[in-house]
Amino acid sequence: MRIGFAGLGAIGRPMAARLAANHDLTVWNRTGSVAEAFAATHGVAVAPTPRELAEGSEVLFTCLPSSREVVALLDGPDGLEAGLQPGTLVIDCTSGDPERSRQIAGRLRERGVALVDAPVSGGVVGAEAGTLTAMVGAEGEDFDRARGVLEVFCGTILHVGPIGAGHALKAVSNAILASNIIAVAEGMTAAVKAGVPAATALEVLNASNARSFASMELVPQRALTRAWPKTFKLALLDKDVKNALAVIDDAGLEARLLRTVSALLSEARAVLGEEADHVEVVKLAEQEAGVELRG
Ligand code: NDP
Repeated sequence: MRIGFAGLGAIGRPMAARLAANHDLTVWNRTGSVAEAFAATHGVAVAPTPRELAEGSEVLFTCLPSSREVVALLDGPDGLEAGLQPGTLVIDCTSGDPERSRQIAGRLRERGVALVDAPVSGGVVGAEAGTLTAMVGAEGEDFDRARGVLEVFCGTILHVGPIGAGHALKAVSNAILASNIIAVAEGMTAAVKAGVPAATALEVLNASNARSFASMELVPQRALTRAWPKTFKLALLDKDVKNALAVIDDAGLEARLLRTVSALLSEARAVLGEEADHVEVVKLAEQEAGVELRG
């Protein structure tokens, strides 16, 4: 199948690499040198413009920071929309916002093009292993088409509702992830100040019902080691939690905990910068407590 992929970032690259091994792939990336390097490694073609990427694609993937960039990529004489052919399926793997996706889907439908939102979970490691979870917002038959292609880099593919539902669920899911990271950081800094070594505190947490992915994987592998690998930007997690608040507002809910989490993330982003990794939000609690969670 002729597949196009726009957005070779931290997670887009390993997703596209798996597509390259299974399909006739063409890529496009804003920074052209990234696309050229990817093409040289994986033996795929590079489209000079988004329009030309779309022209040659039966299925087109987008994996950009937010829905704002997806909308911008559609526009203009060299934009995606100018090249999309009737019958093409657009699979948006961006962690985006539901309302913008419904608007994009309506716009593309007029051209005979279908869109599904298919944000993913499982991180760069999951993308490399082909075990990501995709949560897909789609009309029924579009889901079946998307599933056949998503299988190349996903272990779990779920149809979670109509267009926009995938983005809504992803936003809420990442708000819960952020809550867990911050809760582990705040709780552990308090334990350390009470005289418990960080590694001991984690050992007990992970043998108790307080354990989470944050306590079992993220904090031990990244904070206790002080390694802080950069796999998923704090700025992107901040965006996701803001999207979750929009979902919460639409539902007319207060969600006081998640609003506080969003405020803490925005503060951490302002302090740590646009390139910080999401787990570095731990440093906010460390700075407040005056201790480091070293293992
Ligand atoms: P990165 O910041 O690593 O990459 C972003 C990509 O988008 C790059 O290819 C970048 O191009 C491109 N881009 C940025 N701005 C624009 C623009 N204005 N126009 C066109 N292209 C643009 O992000 P990730 O790969 O980490 O994330 C991509 C999406 O996947 C996000 O929505 C994120 O929330 C989600 N996600 C990420 C996960 C992860 O573990 N990293 C896990 C699950 C979801 P350039 O090379 O020119 O900068």
